[in-house]
Amino acid sequence: MPRNSSLRSSLSGRQVCIHGHFYQPPRENPWTGFIERQESAGDFHDWNERIAAECYVPNTEARIVGADGQVVKKVNNYSWISFNFGPTLMMWLEKSNPKAYEKIIAADRESSLRLKGHGNAIAQAFVHLILPLADPRDQKTVIHWGISDFKRRFGRGPEALWLPETACDDQTLKLLIDFKMKYAILAPSQAERIRKRGASSPWKDVSDGSIDPKQPYRWFDPSNDRRRFIDLFFYDGPISAAVSFEKLMADAKVCADRLVGAFGDLKKDGLVSIATDGELYGHHHKFAEMGLAYLVDQELPRRKIEAVNYGYFLSLHQPEWEVEIKAGPQGLGTSWSCSHGVGRWFLDCGCGSEGKSQKWRTPLRQALNVLKSRLDSLTERAGENLFKDVWVARDDYGEVVGGGAEDLPRSFIEENLSKNSLSDIKKARQIMEMQKFALYMFTSCGWFFSDIAGLEAAQNLKYARRAIELAREISDEDFEPEFLEILAQAPGNDPKFPDGKAVYAALRKS
Ligand SMILES: [Zn+2]
Repeated sequence: MPRNSSLRSSLSGRQVCIHGHFYQPPRENPWTGFIERQESAGDFHDWNERIAAECYVPNTEARIVGADGQVVKKVNNYSWISFNFGPTLMMWLEKSNPKAYEKIIAADRESSLRLKGHGNAIAQAFVHLILPLADPRDQKTVIHWGISDFKRRFGRGPEALWLPETACDDQTLKLLIDFKMKYAILAPSQAERIRKRGASSPWKDVSDGSIDPKQPYRWFDPSNDRRRFIDLFFYDGPISAAVSFEKLMADAKVCADRLVGAFGDLKKDGLVSIATDGELYGHHHKFAEMGLAYLVDQELPRRKIEAVNYGYFLSLHQPEWEVEIKAGPQGLGTSWSCSHGVGRWFLDCGCGSEGKSQKWRTPLRQALNVLKSRLDSLTERAGENLFKDVWVARDDYGEVVGGGAEDLPRSFIEENLSKNSLSDIKKARQIMEMQKFALYMFTSCGWFFSDIAGLEAAQNLKYARRAIELAREISDEDFEPEFLEILAQAPGNDPKFPDGKAVYAALRKS
């Protein structure tokens, strides 16, 4: 029986939604499939293990302690918050900690029962790449993979898809409409202007971040087909920032007061929502998972506030306003973690610099873009007579990647290959794997931090190197010299790794 179903009739129309974006970059060695020991993870073998122990697992059974310090209850926080998990992280968790994995899936089922079919989980683009910086075919593929991965794990279709770094432009939203997503979650700073729904209403500028985040907004495809739209939620910026950077969740009572205070003198139903990285609940902020449990289980019900998810709120409240989003510098879109649009993922913009030069960011992206175009051309040449349609096959390959299949499944072969000798199947697999690594090498974390010699940038280079190797196996073409020539123009900050080429040269295969 849902815990607070009896409360519902007496609850006000004020609701709270807490969204956690749970994600780690993929860390597996592309040659072995295993994660190597990461010294910086301290007592743990690697960062996945450490963050699982500090965050992913504790949030499945977050403790509520009584006045005497005894544990009086354990709460599965995922049942009470909106959340997305990176598909590559879920692949790891499923193998490494099946018990916690099952509790996360179960939390979605529980919330779906409680909230009239609106489960707490939403999908995520499979590869955590910056969508506005990717080419349209790749955008489509990583969304396709993310949705099919979600369906397989959660046994239902997603209502929404988390955009990596909330990076978004008009093209991204159009794609979400194509994929029949009902809503997206953005930062308040990403809104440009709003108006009451109806073409004659005047627009109001909210580009200073002043959009009222307590209601959803409808975004119409600028193509002027009013049937094409998606609804947008903008999270509460100041409270989200306080949870992320001021440890607001350390005291559930203070946090609840802050959330309730955000309703102000609102006379109608409303939603106060926050969105943060999920890892802060226990990993970045120790014991914050306990604060979160106390908030959703005690402090919010005490104030007659229901913890819901966006999909449920939207089912009860259609947007009364429409919105346009910012185009961003050079029309490349905007994000939640860079005040220069999406500059953090290709420019020396200053975000995340820690005092270091980020002149490496542009050449790193250029090198990968050039390599990608070579790999794509090879894919078309080598795949032309082998696949019915090599790009449709790549979309379908998401099922294989997410399912962790060792060999190409029979169904994939029958649907996608036009030849099926053993050597054809082997080559098909090589082409698909090459494309997989060609997408993985754009994982956004590679640009997020301060230096090209960091773990995350090096990981992207490992994927690039593996893709280059596979290209050599498929053909007699070698894309490495051209790639390294551009990479040599990416200056590093560590004297041991003066440029991107040096980082690449030091990559170990095992
Ligand atoms: Zn920036």
